[in-house]
Amino acid sequence: MLSKLLPNAARSVARSRVSVGAVPSLASSGNFRSRSSAASDIPSELDTVVIGGGITGCAILHQLGLHGVGASSAIFEKDELTSGATWHAAGLITYYHGGNNFKFWHQEGVDLYKKWQNEEGIELSFNQPGSIRLIQNEERMKEALYTKSKSELYQKLFGGPQLHMIGPEEVKRLHPLVNTDGLLAALYTEGDGHICPSSCTQAFAAKARELGGRIYRQSPVTDLKAMPDGTWEVTVTPNGGEPHVVRARRVVNCAGLWCPRVGEKAGIHTPAVTLQHQYVITETVPEVKAYHEKHGHQLPVLRDLEGSYYLRDEGDGILIGPYEDENLVQCAPREWKGSLPEEIAFYLFDGDIERLMDSMESRHILYLRLEKLVSRKFSTDPHVGLRTALT
Ligand SMILES: Cc1cc2nc3c(=O)[nH]c(=O)nc-3n(C[C@H](O)[C@H](O)[C@H](O)COP(=O)(O)OP(=O)(O)OC[C@H]3O[C@@H](n4cnc5c(N)ncnc54)[C@H](O)[C@@H]3O)c2cc1C
Repeated sequence: MLSKLLPNAARSVARSRVSVGAVPSLASSGNFRSRSSAASDIPSELDTVVIGGGITGCAILHQLGLHGVGASSAIFEKDELTSGATWHAAGLITYYHGGNNFKFWHQEGVDLYKKWQNEEGIELSFNQPGSIRLIQNEERMKEALYTKSKSELYQKLFGGPQLHMIGPEEVKRLHPLVNTDGLLAALYTEGDGHICPSSCTQAFAAKARELGGRIYRQSPVTDLKAMPDGTWEVTVTPNGGEPHVVRARRVVNCAGLWCPRVGEKAGIHTPAVTLQHQYVITETVPEVKAYHEKHGHQLPVLRDLEGSYYLRDEGDGILIGPYEDENLVQCAPREWKGSLPEEIAFYLFDGDIERLMDSMESRHILYLRLEKLVSRKFSTDPHVGLRTALT
């Protein structure tokens, strides 16, 4: 258990040093950033209004462009692109999915990023070290066999990557940091990995613009009315400007963390709650660094459904994101009424490493030899970056 491995003193040092992730420089978004339509150009009529410029809004504007309505569609974003949940996502992407439709969506997404990353001017920070899903008991084994056989059928019919059932020895070979004691097997998916969520959003935005889509930043939607003829009246009030009414045939609520608030404007209840989700990023871990130097690529992404966490390389360290159980997980503060205040952007809650530790302990997260990694980090360099966020 982590508490045994991490002396109280170290935990309190860690707690006092918990750093809330800084707002990333938008400059990291590369060539795509900062081109936006001027508020004075807001049209009075549009086919489709997309509310929110996170990954969802930008991907939808791109799709609208592919369907030939890009030039009559626009995103209105209250702050900057990615300023909701998107900028701090861990960025894991996968071909894997147990369901039917999602499987295709996942495949389409990863294949698209593969194609884009070879295009000049697009930097996605896309890594594809593959992924390993650990199987520690018979129930998980049944689930894995079911998913694997389904994926074989899909692969024959529609192509795409294969899932491989691998034994503990192979797990050890692919990811030497995993403690394989008690491990039955694992599913390995080639081509899985992670991507920079901000760069990816900016790539969608750039592609959408190429297809005629417009993006208005600093332009909150302040009112939304469904009209009797089935169209919408969307009021946009650019920051520091005057309200402007747009008539639209369709409105897509892509306001992510704020989607209930946007729904409310039109009297629509959106069944969504804001939860806090934390991940930890360690400083350099010598074993990870040595692996990178030896192999020239990253370790596979790990997913442990029993322990309920994901783990990937971050620089020469690791990023671990445990899903907290229902007794620990925190929502947004009560006074925020289940959502975020509208004026908030690039927001992070204060980190709570104690809660995270409790969560990791209660889920037996230690198939990875975390004790070694974490205790070493605390004893030599106690700084652990904890980013707290919302999902
Ligand atoms: C810590 C963490 C790790 C994650 N890791 C992963 C991962 O590994 N893989 C993965 O796939 N997902 C991950 N996610 C989930 C992922 O971040 C979200 O699913 C995704 O970013 C949601 O994007 P979105 O565009 O729907 O919403 P958001 O990013 O929240 O964007 C909504 C946008 O709407 C704008 N907006 C709101 N109200 C208005 C208004 N009235 N007018 C105009 N604009 C408005 C906001 O400013 C914001 O830019 C993670 C999330 C968290 C918190």
